[in-house]
Amino acid sequence: MIGLTILGSTGSIGVSTLDVAGRHTDRYRVIALSANRDVDGIEKQCLAFKPEFAVMADPAAAKALKTRLSSHGLMTQVLAGVEGLETVAALPQVDYVMAAIVGAAGLLPALAAVRAGKRILLANKESLVVSGELFIREAEDHGAEILPIDSEHNALFQCMPANFQQGLEEVGVTRILLTASGGPFRTMPLESLSAVTPDQACAHPNWSMGRKISVDSATMMNKGLEVIEACWLFHTRPDKIQVVLHPQSVIHSMVEYSDGSILAQLGNPDMRTPIAHALAWPERISSGVASLDLFQVARLDFEAPDLERFPCLALAYRAIEASGTAPAILNAANEVAVDAFLTGRIGFTRIATLIEDVLAKMPIDHDPDLEHLLAVDAEARRIAEQSIVSRVS
Ligand code: NAD
Ligand code: MG
Repeated sequence: MIGLTILGSTGSIGVSTLDVAGRHTDRYRVIALSANRDVDGIEKQCLAFKPEFAVMADPAAAKALKTRLSSHGLMTQVLAGVEGLETVAALPQVDYVMAAIVGAAGLLPALAAVRAGKRILLANKESLVVSGELFIREAEDHGAEILPIDSEHNALFQCMPANFQQGLEEVGVTRILLTASGGPFRTMPLESLSAVTPDQACAHPNWSMGRKISVDSATMMNKGLEVIEACWLFHTRPDKIQVVLHPQSVIHSMVEYSDGSILAQLGNPDMRTPIAHALAWPERISSGVASLDLFQVARLDFEAPDLERFPCLALAYRAIEASGTAPAILNAANEVAVDAFLTGRIGFTRIATLIEDVLAKMPIDHDPDLEHLLAVDAEARRIAEQSIVSRVS
């Protein structure tokens, strides 16, 4: 039996992970679940999966969960805070850790799994954006295995040669083609963008996801974060990665080889496919995803992204080219900007200009250690918040 910890089990990826694991109870045993504050959600999951541990990042929520679980007579031990998350990521009876917390809050728990040498099913792209070099180095040092859950990176992993870790040029890979749907505003008149609402931004045409990544998809910051993620996962440079708009979201990404071959991975847009792939790799298991009907899809379109419409994508390329602490600044400013947009404090088009302002205000340091990255993350958040308040007042 494979022991599984799911960090962020009440979210979109967490729920899909439990759906797949629940189809294979002969293979996977859920050891630990975790959430931020969603006591109702995790209570139901605990009743269904009877884990040894449940962690709430919020201490008051942990207290409430403890009372509820003991009223059900469950033996599940309740832990709290980042320490609790780090504990369940590193337990000896845990083999695989699904890292599906949203945002930089997922970094320390994912790093705890890396340092314990686990297989990490990495959905939390922000942790690689913030600390890519350090994260990958720690994984190598501790023999941790990182399997990408992000559908594009999972597709790339499936299309890569087995020895891609030697370096893409060495193994004949010339280019990564990272596909993007273009989100809900791909064809909206540019002058209408400043007035779009959070609900419009979260109405993704193909994928059902958490609200933060949905807004990131609408600005295409999500693709920018994914370019950075791909640089670290596949040991490559941003100029080797081409973003391709593909509105149908059927091809999840492609790898080009030196002989002119391009390998693609296709499937219905359902995260249970990459989750099942990473859970079973190198084997295959069923995921519950319907078979792709190509006649229904009928056509596949491709376009170049418009950087005037999607300035966040250009900002992300600039940040990874600058490297050092720049991606951590970009990510932190984006998290604050997206939250401010979702809570009605700023308009949609202010997201990009706010991030640009924060990047312009902060120096970029090279070779940062973890402590420095966390300090930069906090400082970028402070500057972004200050910028919002000063504009509003
Ligand atoms: P979500 O908002 O639906 O769920 C987030 C989960 O993290 C919840 O369980 C929540 O309780 C927990 N959480 C939130 N803040 C926390 C904190 N401060 N401390 C501890 N736990 C916290 O998000 P999601 O859409 O499932 O995305 C999760 C991650 O996976 C993100 O990094 C996202 O970019 C990535 N991802 C998601 C999808 C998708 O289809 N949803 C696809 C690719 C990658
Ligand atoms: Mg993705």
